[in-house]
Amino acid sequence: MAISFSLEGKSALVTGANTGIGQAIAVALAQAGADVAVAGRSEPAETLDLIAQTGRKAVNIKADLSSIEPVQRVIAEAVAGLGKLDVLVNNAGIIRRDDLLQFSEEDWDAVIDTNLKTLFFLSQAAAKGMVEQGSGKIVNIASLLTFQGGIRVPSYAAAKSGVSGVTKAMANELAPRGVQVNAIAPGYISTNNTAALQGDETRNRQILERIPTGRWGNPDDIAGAAVFLASPASNYVTGHVLAVDGGWLAR
Ligand code: NDP
Repeated sequence: MAISFSLEGKSALVTGANTGIGQAIAVALAQAGADVAVAGRSEPAETLDLIAQTGRKAVNIKADLSSIEPVQRVIAEAVAGLGKLDVLVNNAGIIRRDDLLQFSEEDWDAVIDTNLKTLFFLSQAAAKGMVEQGSGKIVNIASLLTFQGGIRVPSYAAAKSGVSGVTKAMANELAPRGVQVNAIAPGYISTNNTAALQGDETRNRQILERIPTGRWGNPDDIAGAAVFLASPASNYVTGHVLAVDGGWLAR
């Protein structure tokens, strides 16, 4: 049997794709042959343009995913725009930093809601159609803080650990119905999110010394893993959290 990484004839939805990792994933899925919808708050003009350049269909869905209020509409608009939904990539995420002893309820709830609660309910809404069609792929963006505690980011560590748990829970229940659910745990990836960290000379040096590959990752490093997990090549992979971290966790 030929192994296929092609997404020809598939339809995908990527959240938070106006920039960074989400943009790279959305464009890579289109390059692999998928029509792609993107959902988020900010204007994703550049992403839509890059998808269109691949010759694939691009659909924009405006939604604030800090609560689950828009999830049914987002899935309905993706299906209406693309005809069906084969792949969901839950990428939208935020981080809040503060000392543990004064960490606020607001920072706790904001991070858990966007990074974990919306991820689950969007997946649930997408999975209904995937179960009906007997196939589908859900790819959740986790973090190294799925495995580690970090410093001054307790709600982010909790949310991203939760992403691992919910990935496995969904994988268990959806595997018999033809749907695979996996996560990617990016290491240190150069995006807007990490610009301040990269700009801090001491922290940047410490980080680089700790990464066996000796460099920051770039969004395309994550996109490659996403295409694999969205494609038929990964049909026997489910409930897995794939670290794409330049070897960070190996050290
Ligand atoms: P960016 O800040 O560049 O991208 C985050 C994306 O999430 C943006 O598109 C943002 O849209 C979207 N988003 C945030 N809040 C909402 C919301 N309420 N509604 C809709 N969209 C929202 O960061 P990255 O590309 O670095 O991060 C992408 C994912 O990767 C996140 O889940 C992050 O936790 C994870 N990650 C990143 C790592 C890194 O090193 N960069 C490491 C590990 C994990 P908007 O611009 O509208 O806010």
